[in-house]
Amino acid sequence: MSGLRGSAAGIRSSQLMQQTSESGPEWGQDMCWTRSRAAQRGAASISSTTIGPSDLSMDRSDRHFTSDSGATVTLTARAFAKMAEFAAKRSQRETGGILIGHYSEDLTIARIEAASDEPPDSRAGRTWFVRGQVGLAEILQRAWREGRYYLGEWHSHPGASPAPSGPDLSAIAKMARHPTFICHRPILVIIGGNFHQQPLLSATLAAKTGVTTQLRAELYSNEHERLLR
Ligand SMILES: [Zn+2]
Repeated sequence: MSGLRGSAAGIRSSQLMQQTSESGPEWGQDMCWTRSRAAQRGAASISSTTIGPSDLSMDRSDRHFTSDSGATVTLTARAFAKMAEFAAKRSQRETGGILIGHYSEDLTIARIEAASDEPPDSRAGRTWFVRGQVGLAEILQRAWREGRYYLGEWHSHPGASPAPSGPDLSAIAKMARHPTFICHRPILVIIGGNFHQQPLLSATLAAKTGVTTQLRAELYSNEHERLLR
């Protein structure tokens, strides 16, 4: 499970707009999928599928997750490897950070290209994690210059199922609903299982309405077979 310090964990659109208003995207118009087919088709149904042991090995492939309504989240091998590394480093307790990447032009595909380490002011225990915020503004500014931005949150479930807990879902839904939060369609990725040998993943998408949708892990992993529905 995870929690957030402060109302929106320190990432506010107004704050970022001041820093990026000259050439930034239209944060006020909600970068997070509101103009996508996913949003046009309304709330997606909930699926409880996660990547299982049989279809996940630590190869270097990207991972893809989809919703029935056509939203796709791609977790790059690089971001996945970082997450597994950070999680393994604190295998006795949860850890986490933010997800950075970009959307496809039509906003139907979110590509997670980086996962941050835990901010130093984070607090954690064996089954809980409260992400801090120290250093995130700098990370996001740097990302912005590279054409990337905040996409959501990740945390670990050491030795456990990657399925989001009730508090995990409440926390991400609360972020999505928060009026000044940077992103109204945040993604939550959880890495569970054995981080060294058999990490398991789940991906959940939250809507501005507070509805959360657990995405289906797609079994293909070839970049060229990317699903474009
Ligand atoms: Zn959790």
